[in-house]
Amino acid sequence: MASGQMSRDEALECTCCRHACHVLLYSETASQLFGRIPIRYIVLMQMRFDGLLGFPGGFVNPLEETLEEGLTRELLEELGVAVPVSKEDHVESCFSPPRSGTYSSSSRLILHFYVKKMEEEQIREIEKAAASTAADHGLEVLGMVRVPLYTTKSGGGLSCFLSHSFIGVARSQLMNSLLRLHLVSPGDLQEALRSSQRTHAESAQNLQAAFKLTGEQP
Ligand code: AMP
Ligand code: MN
Repeated sequence: MASGQMSRDEALECTCCRHACHVLLYSETASQLFGRIPIRYIVLMQMRFDGLLGFPGGFVNPLEETLEEGLTRELLEELGVAVPVSKEDHVESCFSPPRSGTYSSSSRLILHFYVKKMEEEQIREIEKAAASTAADHGLEVLGMVRVPLYTTKSGGGLSCFLSHSFIGVARSQLMNSLLRLHLVSPGDLQEALRSSQRTHAESAQNLQAAFKLTGEQP
């Protein structure tokens, strides 16, 4: 078990901790981008209310429900579909890294992460429901997004996606899952990360220049 991680049972022993469960839903697909780039897998994330990318899920109260019942309840609110998640889908539990200035030992947050493979048709149903019947649509969730796993000729795809801003440890959860599930090879991920750092540096320059739009000098 990696450092900072704990088993599901150990995590549940902390009754004064807050608990949150999130899930990566994915499926295989035969679709091809521009009719030639294999998409291979649909991996779902969401644009959150705070403008950060994250996984569907949320706070769960283990005194009132099992982690998986709580996660399924959260998914119904955010996706508009009751996606049953079970103990077998659990991947890891860990303390959320404390954000500077907000650390409080009495209310530490434990994150439980799940991964569930689905059929492509089920993923498409979720995407439809998330944009129509989901109670949280346009509120806590601004939209579902698919993670591009490929790299285009101009270097776009996974590398650009990874250069966005993510909630907490969501970027690591995504990358760990891509490797563990063999959706991306370590070499390809390394290459995407290298390119992502360049994109990130360019974005920083763009942001600096954008100050001019506000009439202010950077
Ligand atoms: P949510 O209701 O989905 O925002 O999640 C419940 C809590 O977990 C909030 O405090 C979030 O900031 C936090 N959270 C959500 N996703 C992650 C993540 N991937 N890593 C760390 N914290 C997260
Ligand atoms: Mn949520």
